[in-house]
Amino acid sequence: MNRHVYLDNNATTPLDPDVLAAFSDALARFGNPSSMHGFGREAASLVSDARAEAAAILGAEPGEITCTSGGTESNNTVLASFAPGIPATDGVILPPPGRDEIIVSAIEHPAILETAFALRDRFGMTVHLAPVDATGRIDLAAFERLVNDKTALVSVMLANNEIGTIQDLTAISAIAHKAGAFVHTDAVQAVGKIPVDVTTLGVDYLSASGHKIHGPKGIGILWMRRGVPFAPLMHGGHQEQGRRAGTVNAPAIAALGTACRIAREQLATEARRLAGLRDRLRAGIEERISDTSINGNPDFCLPNTLNMSFRAAEGESTLLYLDLENIAVSTGSACASGSLEPSHVLLACGRSAELAHGSIRFSLGRTTSDEDIEYVLDKLPPIMARIRSMSTLR
Ligand SMILES: *Cc1c(COP(=O)(O)O)cnc(C)c1O
Repeated sequence: MNRHVYLDNNATTPLDPDVLAAFSDALARFGNPSSMHGFGREAASLVSDARAEAAAILGAEPGEITCTSGGTESNNTVLASFAPGIPATDGVILPPPGRDEIIVSAIEHPAILETAFALRDRFGMTVHLAPVDATGRIDLAAFERLVNDKTALVSVMLANNEIGTIQDLTAISAIAHKAGAFVHTDAVQAVGKIPVDVTTLGVDYLSASGHKIHGPKGIGILWMRRGVPFAPLMHGGHQEQGRRAGTVNAPAIAALGTACRIAREQLATEARRLAGLRDRLRAGIEERISDTSINGNPDFCLPNTLNMSFRAAEGESTLLYLDLENIAVSTGSACASGSLEPSHVLLACGRSAELAHGSIRFSLGRTTSDEDIEYVLDKLPPIMARIRSMSTLR
């Protein structure tokens, strides 16, 4: 038996075969969508269909969608639009004056946290980290105390990539808007896994990414409400309604559109299927392995994500032993400059460094089958027994 089990879908997802077909078909149509001749119009029509699909999965209008190089660029574009001193040139909508504070959650992806810290270091903006409870949910009372008449922007992710916790963006938006602040959500992990509707969420900006929804890497979505503060990150041509310069990546956008359509069509059935598999995985592990604990929120969690800490078992060891059995997972630590740093997400949830080091993230996806889960439940217990028998942490 030569089974390969990929349970790292929150890092990236396999390209859907139908997306690949759309991608390669569009690659052959080489026209520049900005050209007025037939070659250009052919490419432009692929882009406009894809933009409509990207809008549909968010409950938005196609004209509100800007295509970027990914979630990271979308996040950077929004936060940088609130930097002080931007000249009021063409296409720029300036933020209200006198507001130089940004609030982000303590468990944001580095694409938000590091961007916020760069704005602090370059422009002297103040960055507040909104704390979360033990399950990763924003403490709304503590958040409300951070919001004031100097708050320019609040950026809170809709769902966390490590533990899957889903935030109450509707409540967060209401609190921020009452104080005159704008609201962004990094919805990279939420889109395609749970229903996302920009009107219900009440946000002003939203980021999403192609490769987290079985599309290609290097393509993403920035949705924004009309008239909100904005400054382009990329300068040059007038592509994307002047919001993002650079020759339009028509093939990747066409692929992204197909990925959005499939994700939207399958969302309800896939969410149910994946939650069932995820719950089976959790129950199976808890039956067979002692001293485990769940990270995240059982009631507000992505259907595909299971994050567990295994006492006295370094996550890196577990990952490597699972890899020998062709099972791909990820850990709650990141190798930063040669040393293992415990996950900032798990630390923000109040986990000890030791439990954070012992955490494993299983993230399921469209290719995950019942057999995959049974295979993991077969392989993991003896691996854990072996690691623990050698562990000095015990
Ligand atoms: C993957 C990810 C990103 C980055 O998206 P890219 O398209 O890879 O730049 C941002 N935020 C979250 C929550 C992510 O999971």
